[in-house]
Amino acid sequence: QTLEQTLRAAIRTIPDYPKPGIQFRDITTLLGDARAFRRSVDELVHPYAGMKVDKIAGIEARGFILGGAMAHQLSSGFIPIRKKGKLPHETVRVAYSLEYGIDEMEMHRDAVKEGEKVILVDDLIATGGTAEGAVKLLRQMGAQIVAACFVIDLPDLGGRAKLEALGVEVNTLIAYE
Ligand code: IMP
Repeated sequence: QTLEQTLRAAIRTIPDYPKPGIQFRDITTLLGDARAFRRSVDELVHPYAGMKVDKIAGIEARGFILGGAMAHQLSSGFIPIRKKGKLPHETVRVAYSLEYGIDEMEMHRDAVKEGEKVILVDDLIATGGTAEGAVKLLRQMGAQIVAACFVIDLPDLGGRAKLEALGVEVNTLIAYE
């Protein structure tokens, strides 16, 4: 089975969630499938094998699951990027755009040191607003972003292009039109 076939079979699509007209791509079925989960993590880390990556930064919440596994495989540290108000120590905060309105995300101020090599991860990139916010936080603290990676790309929504315009390499495993 090709990677494409494995992923398509493991990712579930929920029509009209969270609202009418949206096709929600649900990776909980992929996470529950041992083979598909391992294969996804293997493919996500593949471009960086043998590279010294200081930290994986995962976006709450599904980026934590993928990022923890990637960090283990690459022998890197892990940074949680969270919705505002959840982290206990001093944070840096950024506003980012959602489909309707804005929200804020945060990272601990001491989570990354100047010049550290960081890979950003989330389950899916749509408009790229969320990942762009995370890139801003990491760069503000001096991180060198090696790449941003996602299991799923929704290319019609332009997120990849948005990150590439910021000079971020983007790696994704599967695209849904
Ligand atoms: P963006 O900021 O528009 O790129 O949206 C990406 C963020 O929304 C990520 O944190 C995703 O987890 C979440 N998201 C948007 N659409 C979906 C979907 O269809 N399935 C799972 N997550 C989604």
